[in-house]
Amino acid sequence: MLFFIIWIICIPLIIWIILQIISRRRANEEAGADVQLEECALCHEEFPMDALLEKEVGGYSRIYCFCGGCIEQLCREYQAKVEQKDEENEQVSESTKKEL
Ligand SMILES: [Zn+2]
Repeated sequence: MLFFIIWIICIPLIIWIILQIISRRRANEEAGADVQLEECALCHEEFPMDALLEKEVGGYSRIYCFCGGCIEQLCREYQAKVEQKDEENEQVSESTKKEL
C-alpha cells in the first residue's frame, strides 16, 4: 500500500521534471538560434553578427568578419604608424633645413 502511494506521487513528479527539462532545452535552442555567432577573423573570438563588421577581402570574394575591438586596435596601430612617419618626416625636413 505504501509503495502504491509513493508510486502515485512519483509518476506525475517524474513526468513534470522531464517536461520541465524538455521545455528548458527547447527554450535554449530557440534562444541559441536567434543569436548567430560568428568568429572574428583577427582574434578568433565569437561574437553575435550585429557586433561584427563584414568585409570582402581579396580577389576571391571571401567575406571576413571583424569585431569592434580588433578594428579599434587596427585604427590605433595605423594612427601610431602615421604619427611616427610624420615625426620622421619632420626630423628629415628639419635636418635638410639645417643643411641648407
Ligand atoms: Zn576580433
